[in-house]
Amino acid sequence: MEVYKTDVLVIGAGPSGAVAASILEKKGLDVLLVEKKKFPRYVIGESLLPSCMESLKEAGFLEALQKEEFQLKIGARFIRDDQECLFRFEEQYTEGWSWTWQVPRERFDQVMTDELEKRGVRILFEHGVTDIQFNGSTSKTTIEDRTGKVHQVEAKFVIDASGYGRVLPRLLGLEASSDFPMRQSFFTRIKDERRPKNLEGKQATFVVLDQQNWMWVIPFSNGITSVGFVGDPIFFKGNDETVMRQMIEDVYQMKDRFRDMEHVMPPQTIKGYASGVTKLYGDGFALAGNSAEFLDPIFSSGVALGILTGHRAAELAAMQLKGENVNWETDFADYINQGVDTFRSYVRHWYNGSMQCAFFTPTAINQKIKNQICSVLAGYVWDKSNPYVAKHEKAMTVLQKVIHLYS
Ligand SMILES: Cc1cc2nc3c(=O)[nH]c(=O)nc-3n(C[C@H](O)[C@H](O)[C@H](O)COP(=O)(O)OP(=O)(O)OC[C@H]3O[C@@H](n4cnc5c(N)ncnc54)[C@H](O)[C@@H]3O)c2cc1C
Repeated sequence: MEVYKTDVLVIGAGPSGAVAASILEKKGLDVLLVEKKKFPRYVIGESLLPSCMESLKEAGFLEALQKEEFQLKIGARFIRDDQECLFRFEEQYTEGWSWTWQVPRERFDQVMTDELEKRGVRILFEHGVTDIQFNGSTSKTTIEDRTGKVHQVEAKFVIDASGYGRVLPRLLGLEASSDFPMRQSFFTRIKDERRPKNLEGKQATFVVLDQQNWMWVIPFSNGITSVGFVGDPIFFKGNDETVMRQMIEDVYQMKDRFRDMEHVMPPQTIKGYASGVTKLYGDGFALAGNSAEFLDPIFSSGVALGILTGHRAAELAAMQLKGENVNWETDFADYINQGVDTFRSYVRHWYNGSMQCAFFTPTAINQKIKNQICSVLAGYVWDKSNPYVAKHEKAMTVLQKVIHLYS
């Protein structure tokens, strides 16, 4: 049995774990990143938000990612019937990045882990965490390689960025159910040979099918487009390519574009993805990214929140290991909850119909309000000078009432 010793063990090499590992390494700490899968590996979550770009820059990944020439994402486009609502990130209230990318995650994630390896960060691919024992803040973690051999990691701190693996929530009994009803998703990738030549063909588009169900169309720069459906489980009638083709055929705004096009991967289903935890940190550990919380894909917030929380967890862990006092409740839990709760209100008001009405009743929201909402859609959910962040629930409820007056 090999015993690895490190300052910080990071579990999971998705965007959250990669950014956490990078920040720790830059702060001079020894890091060990343990990843269950062999890279490249497919994972869903392809449309990013501008708010994560600063962390990618600070983590030292921006230059390598830019070389990939991923599809630029300059806004979020929603359509319902023949109406369109486009939020352009350059027209947002908060000062920040006005663009981001739409990425095939297998490539995006691998660029970051390649960069880490170039900088000498140890990554153990095909090693899964199976157990952890804490003795105060230090821990002994059991990992299993692909041959079934068991090894141990002794660490002073653990950041769990294991995404849907939810390693520490499961091992430490921290899992909590989500307050959202169970929803389902069904998605594939398609050779997009009839893609419109204008902005519409490049832009991530979200098609409202009805109040509970919607479709995403996320074009990549390699000519492939990610297509998926999300909604109430009763909306889904099967899980094979024939069903997927029929579902696309039923969306009149998209059927001509995708008819007879090659599907380059078998469709996949994920159900009941929303989840939470009873606490976000403990003695010697912190949860980041999806391992902490996942709400819903409608506003593409998952990867950005993963990156931002991984960044924050790494900064605080580094401070603590250097002997500084860290208040994990205020500096971490409250911080994460501020961002997640803002998106929680938006997701709730999406599915109760009020956001959809706001998006498609242009007379109901003026440009100032649109810019404030746009900042949330860009992921700037910590700017409390924005009333649509500071009082997200109240602002949404007031908006709902105003829309009723107009409709
Ligand atoms: C249908 C759907 C659509 C979505 N669309 C979007 C979108 O458009 N935009 C967006 O931003 N988000 C989207 N998301 C959310 C997105 O998938 C996640 O939020 C994002 O991948 C989280 O990143 P992460 O780094 O936390 O975890 P992940 O990217 O899941 O990475 C976690 C890593 O941990 C590894 N791991 C797991 N268990 C173990 C273990 N025991 N030991 C070691 N390693 C382990 C995994 O192999 C994985 O590589 C979507 C989600 C769903 C369900």
